[in-house]
Amino acid sequence: MKDTLQKILEEARQSLQAVTDEKTLEELRVKYLGKKGVIKEFLGQLGSLEIEMRKELGRIANEVKDEVERLLEEAENRLKSLKREAKLKEGVVDISLPVKSFPVGYPHPLTLVTQKMVSIFQSMGYTVVEGPELEKEEYNFDMLNIPKHHPARDDHDSFYVIEGWLMRTHTSPVQIRTMLAKKPPIAVIVPGRCYRRDAVDATHSHTFHQMEGLVVGENISFADLKGTLLLWAKLMFGENTQIRLRPDYFPFTEPSAELAVTCPVCHGPGCPVCKHTGWVELMGCGMVEPTVLKNCGIDPSKYSGFAFGLGIERVAMTVYGVKDIRHFYENDIRLLEQFRA
Ligand SMILES: [Zn+2]
Repeated sequence: MKDTLQKILEEARQSLQAVTDEKTLEELRVKYLGKKGVIKEFLGQLGSLEIEMRKELGRIANEVKDEVERLLEEAENRLKSLKREAKLKEGVVDISLPVKSFPVGYPHPLTLVTQKMVSIFQSMGYTVVEGPELEKEEYNFDMLNIPKHHPARDDHDSFYVIEGWLMRTHTSPVQIRTMLAKKPPIAVIVPGRCYRRDAVDATHSHTFHQMEGLVVGENISFADLKGTLLLWAKLMFGENTQIRLRPDYFPFTEPSAELAVTCPVCHGPGCPVCKHTGWVELMGCGMVEPTVLKNCGIDPSKYSGFAFGLGIERVAMTVYGVKDIRHFYENDIRLLEQFRA
């Protein structure tokens, strides 16, 4: 019976050394060490033997069992390392390959236009000021010479929050805040977000951005306004840019004008951006209405001033050829990727 054990061990050694896959290995484990395995079966046959013999064979059977366990472990480790090697061979890492790039944002076109405008006016000595987006009706309308029932309010379909307070419809109330807080000379620009109850379409949004300018001092004339805006247009759109001023109406300026620049895209001959006119209307401007100065405690017989305001979206759409204002608000990183510096 000792021979039988030797035979079992020898057979197990040969099978386990030859094993090449995990399935066979598991089968061998069951075959030799399982509850109904070869060794258990052998031990079951010892019952009829003498006690001494039974002890002796039991000891040897345990040694065989230990050895088979060791061989199983060895085979298992061998299979693991074979598997690892095979994996390395099939999935060779080429470290010279380019790395996958992550999506990266760039400054928003509205930010780019704002920054350029700010830097141009700062170079002329203007200071940037900001005001609250939730504004007093008094500053947004009344003190700007737009009393209740004034027809100009119809153009400013407003979001009222509570009686007397609304989301500002333009950046102009910051003119009032500035003049109430500071005496002339004043030269400020006001970039900021504004709100109107407009239905959203390709050219309108309920939320948009404006930039306002205000200059107040002694002997400020319409010629100063014209010179300032011509210089701005040249710095903004190029040296050959010209401006055109046409009479317009705003309650808070008198006289008022609408400013157009020679088309920044076609520079004159006409294109879809300028509707084939060669000109793009960008800005409202004028001399500060004396009533507005008076409302802010500034003596209009001593001081005069000019103001201007434009839509940042309008400039960005013109300069970058964006045809739908909604692109600016959709947070699509593909849009921003086109504005990498
Ligand atoms: Zn054009």
